[in-house]
Amino acid sequence: MRSRYSAYCIGDYGYILDTYDSETKTTLTVDALAEHASENKWFALQIVPQQKHDCVEFKAYYFYQRRPHMLHETSRFLKESGRWVYTSGDLHSDFGKIAIGRNDACPCQSGKKFKQCCLNKAA
Ligand SMILES: [Zn+2]
Repeated sequence: MRSRYSAYCIGDYGYILDTYDSETKTTLTVDALAEHASENKWFALQIVPQQKHDCVEFKAYYFYQRRPHMLHETSRFLKESGRWVYTSGDLHSDFGKIAIGRNDACPCQSGKKFKQCCLNKAA
């Protein structure tokens, strides 16, 4: 999960594609993934602790057209040939454009105010 987030941050869509399950992989291309995500500038990831071993709930923060947004998803993984791969995810209803005050704590959990931290990555 964290490695997929990192790959989105640096635009490594080959890795993203490679970590899909084999069935989903046949319906995707690197170009399609890139087109979908390349306008997003990711800046923070929060993993929500939970019980199920094959799911990961997370909040991933990004700027789209300079505005902060959040992707809140519970992702499902399955094991193929001894390796965990992404199969699908459910969006939570609070995803999308979000309001973060300049003086609010930065979502990246640096302990700094948003304006002194990741807000500077919006441009
Ligand atoms: Zn930050």
